[in-house]
Amino acid sequence: MAASVARESLPVADDVVDYILRTLPDFDSLLALILVSKRIYHIYRRHSKSIRRSIAYSLVGPALPQALRLVRRGSYGSRDPSSWPRESEMMATAITPEDALRLTQKASVLDQLEIVFSRSYKDFYASSSGSMLSQQESHRFHRAMYRFWLYADAFRLDGEPAVDDVKLKGILLSQIPDDADLFELARVVEFLREVLRQVCVRNGECFAGNAPNGDPYDMGYAMSLGPDRVLGLYQGYEALPHPLDSRIILGRYFIRDPLYEAFHARDLPYPDWDSPVMQLIILDDYEHHNLACHICKETKVLVWGPPNWHHLEYHMSTDALSVLFTGNLKRNYYETEGLHHYASLTPSCHVHLMNWLFDHKLDSGIQATVSRDDWMCDQCIRDFIRANLHAWWLERKHAEGIDTPAEDCPLGYHCREQITRGTHAAKLNHLRRPTAVDTDLQGLPGIERWRSMLSEAIDDSGTLAPRSIFR
Ligand SMILES: [Zn+2]
Ligand SMILES: [Zn+2]
Repeated sequence: MAASVARESLPVADDVVDYILRTLPDFDSLLALILVSKRIYHIYRRHSKSIRRSIAYSLVGPALPQALRLVRRGSYGSRDPSSWPRESEMMATAITPEDALRLTQKASVLDQLEIVFSRSYKDFYASSSGSMLSQQESHRFHRAMYRFWLYADAFRLDGEPAVDDVKLKGILLSQIPDDADLFELARVVEFLREVLRQVCVRNGECFAGNAPNGDPYDMGYAMSLGPDRVLGLYQGYEALPHPLDSRIILGRYFIRDPLYEAFHARDLPYPDWDSPVMQLIILDDYEHHNLACHICKETKVLVWGPPNWHHLEYHMSTDALSVLFTGNLKRNYYETEGLHHYASLTPSCHVHLMNWLFDHKLDSGIQATVSRDDWMCDQCIRDFIRANLHAWWLERKHAEGIDTPAEDCPLGYHCREQITRGTHAAKLNHLRRPTAVDTDLQGLPGIERWRSMLSEAIDDSGTLAPRSIFR
């Protein structure tokens, strides 16, 4: 009680409290503050509409009209966008507490997606923890993403499609005020498609079938779930939801074809996403690099180093990782399945692998030529991993208590029996260098015999394993 009285008697003028309320960054802070005292609550009540508007702007930024048109869609009554209030009319209506709650949820999703966008297209080689977009770039991203979200909410593929969908989609896209804004919308659609593609790589899934325009059928369905679900898929490890068969056929009609029609209606060329100019649709400047691979010395579009190892899981599926095994291990179902299963369930598995390989310099081959901070191109990093993936996997099996055969097969990763006999593959450990020569090869005559032995004794990284020949 004494504390409450003390708060009520704080010597702060009402207009100062009013100012503080208007400059709060979000509605959670507002709620926390108005619960502190009756006096603050009454000051809020006197100017609640303008205070909510100020906070909404702080939270959402200049894309507030687009965000409001999205969060109010449930109140429009009609499916026809031509009867909805326009973006330019949004600020004329007071922001309700319900609007405020929905704005908070949507803004949080878009802030997180902006970081994914930034780390993919602006900051791939440094990977800062937050967004590196400028205010103007951030505004374009949010404006376009709120518009796409409205489109996704209006035309989601979760029910029987209405016959007038094509027309209504065309109307909504025609309301995008100018051509630059339409390119921005198409750019964020392309971004979400890329996010979904990366989720597929990481989860080891692929979409069913290909539409005539080359898009996987399911992609349109997954896109129609909206930016919040796409972000959830990216951040989590859940399997992609797959549509019913009838929705698969409709997938490509969800956004790609309507966008194509919208560009055509404005006499605009459909974007070539690989062209440099398209990198600048949202961004004023995109990340340039001229990083050469330390191993092959070539400058490549994509190079890998510690700042972006966490992206590896979106480029190298766990299936692709398991077939990087050296020798005949890559055809050993027992080990490839085990690794695939483990990597699929282990967050940041690729980062752990890379760190372990640099912490344990195991041979004088490719590992000796590169240091942790060196950049490697996509091909060379695969060679680097291939050289000692088996050693890392053996260590992981011991560390995680995964069943590991106690006895080593003397032919190690070059054993051919591990390919054809599952019981042999499971009974003996093949995650080691060979300590013996395959006796089946000894019947071969002269030079052919030595050639076979040599080719098998040289592992995929080009390192000679001398003991297998000269023991
Ligand atoms: Zn290279
Ligand atoms: Zn064997």
